[in-house]
Amino acid sequence: MPASASISRRQLLRGRPLPAPFEPRPPGAVSLDACTGCGDCVRACPQQILSIAQDRVILLPRDECTFCGECARACPEPVFGKTRIMGHLVAISGDCLTHAGISCMTCRDTCPEDAISMRPRIGGPFLPEIDGAACTGCGACIAPCPNGAIGIIERNMADAE
Ligand code: SF4
Ligand code: SF4
Ligand code: SF4
Repeated sequence: MPASASISRRQLLRGRPLPAPFEPRPPGAVSLDACTGCGDCVRACPQQILSIAQDRVILLPRDECTFCGECARACPEPVFGKTRIMGHLVAISGDCLTHAGISCMTCRDTCPEDAISMRPRIGGPFLPEIDGAACTGCGACIAPCPNGAIGIIERNMADAE
């Protein structure tokens, strides 16, 4: 069962412990078995967020993916499909500072898709909520989070179609 299907939407939004981490790939990389680990995509990525691990491309969420498509264009193998949908999205864990009573809206402010909203609550700071349908998995919110509370989970691709 995909990790994203093993937790409920409510768990995602309430900052519960995240499911097993999912190894992210660049957008549209749907046939990793065809990846030879040549590194052409790594060199082509202007954001420098791709790497090779165990002879396969992986995405390092240290900066935002701009969905420029340079990785797909550089790849000489049939790794990339026509769609540029990420195979992942993000979720917020219980390490979010708001659960410790500390006000923070950094992720909301960095999201280019307005996929994160802050839900008011009585007796504490607003809580961040991710709209899984709006989240592209770009990763722009991950590095800026001051407490490392944002992780990557597998997207249920049936939901993305
Ligand atoms: S789409 Fe562009 S920014 Fe994103 S991983 Fe590929 S080359 Fe890098
Ligand atoms: S940036 Fe991190 S600590 Fe701040 S609200 Fe978002 S998840 Fe919580
Ligand atoms: S991964 Fe990108 S689209 Fe998704 S919540 Fe973070 S910044 Fe927004």
